[in-house]
Amino acid sequence: MSDFQQFNLIAALQQAIQDEGYELPTPIQQQTLPVALEGQDVLGCAQTGTGKTAAFVLPILNDLADNGFKTVANRPLALILAPTRELAIQIGDSCDAYGRHVDVSHVLVYGGVGQGRQVQAVEEGVHILIATPGRLMDLMSQEHIYLNRLQIFVLDEADRMLDMGFLPDLKRIIKSLPVRRQSMFFSATMPDSIMNLAERLLYQPVMVKVDAEHTNVDLIDQRVIFAEYRQKKPLLSQLLKAGDVGQAIVFTRTKRGADYVAEYLRRDDIEAVAIHGNKSQNARQQALDKFRADKVQVLVATDLAARGIDVEGITHIINFELPVEPEVYVHRIGRTGRAGANGIAITFCSPDEAIRLQKIERLIGFKLLEDGRTPEPLPESETETGSDDDGSRPSSRNRRRRRKGGPRTSPSKSDVGGNARNDGGGKSRKKSKGKGRRGRRGPPTAGDAPQKTP
Ligand code: AMP
Repeated sequence: MSDFQQFNLIAALQQAIQDEGYELPTPIQQQTLPVALEGQDVLGCAQTGTGKTAAFVLPILNDLADNGFKTVANRPLALILAPTRELAIQIGDSCDAYGRHVDVSHVLVYGGVGQGRQVQAVEEGVHILIATPGRLMDLMSQEHIYLNRLQIFVLDEADRMLDMGFLPDLKRIIKSLPVRRQSMFFSATMPDSIMNLAERLLYQPVMVKVDAEHTNVDLIDQRVIFAEYRQKKPLLSQLLKAGDVGQAIVFTRTKRGADYVAEYLRRDDIEAVAIHGNKSQNARQQALDKFRADKVQVLVATDLAARGIDVEGITHIINFELPVEPEVYVHRIGRTGRAGANGIAITFCSPDEAIRLQKIERLIGFKLLEDGRTPEPLPESETETGSDDDGSRPSSRNRRRRRKGGPRTSPSKSDVGGNARNDGGGKSRKKSKGKGRRGRRGPPTAGDAPQKTP
């Protein structure tokens, strides 16, 4: 008997959890599942990698399958809002995985692709809509989506949504929600702006919280290498070729920086792709698919683009540059050490980044260990320090030097496998069984109650 038996989940979901191989609920699941399954509102402080997706997807699937709600064209019963397409796709994958034995459908709705298939899928009727705010607003204003039947609303990664400027869209979406609903709100950080938004949305919420420091971060071996800025790229190559690195995400502070670093690595025969906000949605997805399928060893990413990426088996996180906000460091390294696995995070710190390192160390509560590796000393003509305008562009002198080419020692990784992705228009539907839901709050309002069809 798995430890998930303590929760009031229907057998089909218990089976899916067993299929996934989960034995113990993660702390966020332990705290969220009992209250969410009772229909209460949840205010969750947790970052990606803690298992929070299952914490909100399982109660939604349980409610919809258990009550046997029928779908109605254009009127979803649950809405999960995510800041990025990548995160939306991952949530869709979780709905597929946890919902494999129930008859609950979901549709993904996000920008950057044509809306035709998404509109068609919504018109056919869907239980769960997983959406990014911009495209959802578009489809609502075109009267393809109405939220008046909504039973459950989830806002995921709320802090990132505000960072991305979605607040006006969020306010409008929240206004369109029926009064009688269950809401769950997740955010990695809880600044005042987030608490204000949560107050608008939630009714007597139960607060659930997992401190980043006490979850996966403790499992991650965190080290720092002090290096002059110009030593960082050769150092990175050396590290990636060392043999103990499986797949790695390298974080840069800027989009241009991500491109430069990926280009440098490719020239040094290391398979690398860059992912950042200047790339089209398709290019980002392709890069991510390649990385997920292990066709490339290294993903070079900016923080925003990497948000929500959940790829199993990342052995190393490398901070090519330190983030300005110390909390971002914790998000970054959370990409490895997922769900109990161990991972390694290595931070390159140049002299001008020392203050940032101090802030990070204050946040995580300990000093990063120095890695045994030391960078090659720079030739005298190269000893100037610091980065340039965007913190990433190599000097023209360096660019010339590199084009001449150094030794090419490392064999490239072979192309393996493929990776089929959900295309954003497809609908997924599974089988169900059911009994009644409890704990729904608030008075019913005209027109917002779904037809109950057990
Ligand atoms: P999330 O924070 O939702 O992105 O989940 C991070 C990773 O943890 C995903 O790969 C999940 O499949 C995995 N996961 C979620 N819950 C559990 C669990 N109870 N036991 C083991 N792995 C889990």
